Amino acid sequence: MRRPIIAGNWKMNKTIEGTIAFFQELKKLIPQGNDREVIVAPPFTSLYAASNHLNDSNIRLAAQDIFWEKKGAFTGEVSPGMLKNAGCQYAIIGHSERRQYFHENNETVNQKIKSALEEGLIAILCVGESLEERESKLTFSVVESQVAEGLKEISPDKMQGVVIAYEPIWAIGTGKTASTDQAEEVHLHIRKLLAGLFGKNVSESVRILYGGSVKSDNINDLMAKPNIDGALVGGASLDVQSFAKIINFNPI
Ligand code: PEP
Repeated sequence: MRRPIIAGNWKMNKTIEGTIAFFQELKKLIPQGNDREVIVAPPFTSLYAASNHLNDSNIRLAAQDIFWEKKGAFTGEVSPGMLKNAGCQYAIIGHSERRQYFHENNETVNQKIKSALEEGLIAILCVGESLEERESKLTFSVVESQVAEGLKEISPDKMQGVVIAYEPIWAIGTGKTASTDQAEEVHLHIRKLLAGLFGKNVSESVRILYGGSVKSDNINDLMAKPNIDGALVGGASLDVQSFAKIINFNPI
């Protein structure tokens, strides 16, 4: 049984005050049970204050990115250990905006995943094709190399620290969601790929999230699919009412 995850990626939004106000409200709107994992990735600047505020809650924190080195002369970068120290338990790695604007590739993503796992952070590996790649029928091959290269040299026992987020780039922030069948098809393909790479037990236990214009009005249909284990939510995670509705999904 895979425990669903609803994760919010705030990107470059919200101040420290705005973060605390959001969590004060969110705690009132969601049950404190354990049947679903709730994760939020605020900007780095809000992490420590958020973690102090959330220490009586089941809401967990993620970093939106990490660097692979432990310390040293890397101006502007933040190490996995520093993020753990600030209260993070998860790290989003290889988000399409990082790949697109900051030249991340499967190799750097792999280095980041390894260093996150070494520090005991759970890595949320983002994969997904562009519109051009989908139209050229390259979706499966793009996702295959992102998964296989991103997870290169990771042993099956370490895979319990990995979550995968399938986020078709054409659906991110565009209001265009992949249909539930399109998403399920790719999720199933990723699961089969994981079985080939790491064995059946791993493939059945890894959570695969969908991301791309998830809203309160499409989450129930998405969560009803057998291989969709949760959502990575961008825009709709910024509004506390809409994020709470997504967390409180009820698959049909
Ligand atoms: C994202 O950036 O990971 C994302 C899925 O964004 P949105 O929900 O806004 O499409």
